[in-house]
Amino acid sequence: MPTTATVRVMPAEEIAARAGGSTPPLRWPERATYFAERAMRLRQLANGHAMGDFLQFTARLARAQQAALERLGREGGIDIPDAAAIDRASLAGQPPLGAAEGPRDRAWHGVLREIVAAMRTGTPPGPAADALARLAVADEVFLERQADALLTGVMAGLDLATAPVVAAALQVLWTHLAIELERAHAARGQTNTLPVGRLDDAGICPCCGSRPVASITRSAGDVAGQRYLHCSLCGTEWNVPRGQCTHCGEGSAEKVAYQSLDRSDVEEEGDSASRAAKASIQAETCDACGHYLKIVHGDRDPLAEPAADDLASITLDLLVAETGKLRHGVNLMLLFGDPEGGAEEGPGGATASGPEGPPRGR
Ligand SMILES: [Zn+2]
Ligand SMILES: [Zn+2]
Repeated sequence: MPTTATVRVMPAEEIAARAGGSTPPLRWPERATYFAERAMRLRQLANGHAMGDFLQFTARLARAQQAALERLGREGGIDIPDAAAIDRASLAGQPPLGAAEGPRDRAWHGVLREIVAAMRTGTPPGPAADALARLAVADEVFLERQADALLTGVMAGLDLATAPVVAAALQVLWTHLAIELERAHAARGQTNTLPVGRLDDAGICPCCGSRPVASITRSAGDVAGQRYLHCSLCGTEWNVPRGQCTHCGEGSAEKVAYQSLDRSDVEEEGDSASRAAKASIQAETCDACGHYLKIVHGDRDPLAEPAADDLASITLDLLVAETGKLRHGVNLMLLFGDPEGGAEEGPGGATASGPEGPPRGR
């Protein structure tokens, strides 16, 4: 096993944040590029990677997601909460696009069928092709039950073989909703307010209530290297200062630390792209609550993409798991947990188990 490097520092960004400076609190997904950028990054990271086949599969999935997201944008017709509903949610401290509760638009079934059709072309015979064939004929009862499990974080009854593809369709619907929510807000001329309220829990998405996949540092406004949490479902990003635990809010430098793969290990394997990716990712760990979230350094590598870089850095999860820390982040392309035992893991789940088992969906 590679060795680890753990450091405890007061991040410069945190100091800058405390000193003030204008940082946009939210960043919204871009319809024309959101999944396309993920697909491109996954293809880059797959090159020479031990999980290369799986990363290529998810790259193709992301390409299909991009096509579906663009179609939803052209066709429209999916209801979004109006201004009054957004205000009610905000006053109640709830996200306006709450994923874990309430009815959801069945438009995601059409998205799923579109993605399945695209994926069946070019998927060689094997478990992945079998899962796609089952999804092609799955009825609405099955699909809704799978969506319930994925969106509430209850693993019981979840079909792990088809889960990444079902999740991909749900991501397209929620990303579409987030984009339209922001667009409608801007169209109302409410330029000095945000379309979503601030939630008490900074560790979940203010737009849909899901957990983040990872966090990413971005240069935003006039402050460089701000940290944004990236929603695992709708793609919205929200600002949380570095050095603050995203699970419990702990902010002391004695409790929050950073762990990364040692460079000497990194140099031994992979091409330059995967080396760069590994070098530009850390786990922010918290001794107060025992959780961690990855930080992808987008300001060091402009091609970094939180969901893709998270998938390609499972080695870091394994290292952190050795110390007993639990993931706060959720990656819907690679869920950890036990469908038989009902352990929780999902965008809205409250608990997470350490990584175990091989990648699925290939
Ligand atoms: Zn979200
Ligand atoms: Zn914590």
